[in-house]
Amino acid sequence: MTTDTGAELQRDPEGRLRHFLTLEGLGRDELEQLLDLAQFYVRTPGDMPPRDQTLAGRTVANLFFEPSTRTRVSFELAARRLGADVVNLDLQSSSRVKGETVLDTIYTLQAMLVDVFVMRDAEPGLPAYVAQHVAPHACVLNAGEAHVSHPTQGLLDTLTIRQRKGDLRTTSVAIVGDILHSRVARSTGTALLALGVGELRLVSPASLMPEAGELADASRYHSLADGIRGADVVMALRIQHERIPDSASLDIDAFNREWGITAENLRYAKPDAIVMHPGPMNRGVEITNEVADGPQSVIRQQVSNGVAVRMAVLATIVRNVQARNVEAGRRAG
Ligand code: ASP
Repeated sequence: MTTDTGAELQRDPEGRLRHFLTLEGLGRDELEQLLDLAQFYVRTPGDMPPRDQTLAGRTVANLFFEPSTRTRVSFELAARRLGADVVNLDLQSSSRVKGETVLDTIYTLQAMLVDVFVMRDAEPGLPAYVAQHVAPHACVLNAGEAHVSHPTQGLLDTLTIRQRKGDLRTTSVAIVGDILHSRVARSTGTALLALGVGELRLVSPASLMPEAGELADASRYHSLADGIRGADVVMALRIQHERIPDSASLDIDAFNREWGITAENLRYAKPDAIVMHPGPMNRGVEITNEVADGPQSVIRQQVSNGVAVRMAVLATIVRNVQARNVEAGRRAG
C-alpha cells in the first residue's frame, strides 16, 4: 500500500481538489476559501441547521475502521444537510475482519452507486490507496489516518482559532501533550503554518515529541510553563494509547502532574487565552474538569465547527467533480 501523503494524488489534472487526503500542499488562498465556506455554514446551537442541495443525488459512505464519535456523526450530518444519502458501515466487525479486502468493499459499494467515501483507518496509506482505485466520478475523504493526518480536524481547529483570535499572524498557538502520535497536531500544525500563524509551539516530553523534520517551523518546548507562557491558544491532546505499544507502562499520574492543563498552570498563558481539545478528553489526565468546562474552553465550539468544515469540504470536492464531468462532457460532445 502506498504511504504517499496524497498531496498530488488528491488533485485532478487541472489542479482542483478531487479527493481530500491531506492538508499538505494546500496554499493559503485554498485554505482560506475552505475556511470562508465553512464559516458560511456555521450556526450556533439553537439556530436551524443550514441546508442546501449541493450533494443531492450523491451517496456518501462512512467507512470507519477505527472508533469515532464526533468525526463520524459530523460527516453524516454534514452530508445529510447537503442533501446526500448516507450509509454508515460498522467495520470493526464486518468485511475486513472476514477477510474481504478493502477494495472489494469499495467496489461493492460503488456497485450500489456510492460515490463519496469517507474513511478512517489505523494504518497509514489507506485513503490514498483507495483514491488510486476508485471510479473516476468517485472521491475519497480522509477522516483520520493513523498518526499521519486528520485534515478536516486541522481545518476546524484553525477555523475556531480564527473566529476567536482574528488575525492568525499575530496569534501564538501551543499544542501540548502526545504530539508524536497525534494526527491532529500534524494537520492542525500544517494548516496554521501554511496560514502564517504568528507562532506554533510544540510542548511535550522528549519521548512524545516528533522528529525535528516534522512541523519544522514550530518551536519546541520540554517544559509546560515555558511552552504556554504568553500563548493565545493552548491545545491539549489525549495520549494516543492505541498507537503506543507499551502504553500500559506509561506513568499517567506523572504525565498529569507535569503536562496536564490545570486552572493553575493556565495562568502562564495570556489571560484571554482559549483552551482547545479535539476530543475525546481524558479528564484528569491531560486536562482538568475545571479547565475543560471553564470560561476559556472552546471545545464545544470546535465540535460545532466540525460540521461546518465537513460541509465545506464535501461541497468543494463534489463541485469540483461536477465541474470536471461537465468539461469532460463538453470535450466528448
Ligand atoms: N479524535 C481525534 C483523532 O481522531 C483525537 C483523539 O482521538 O485523541 O485523532
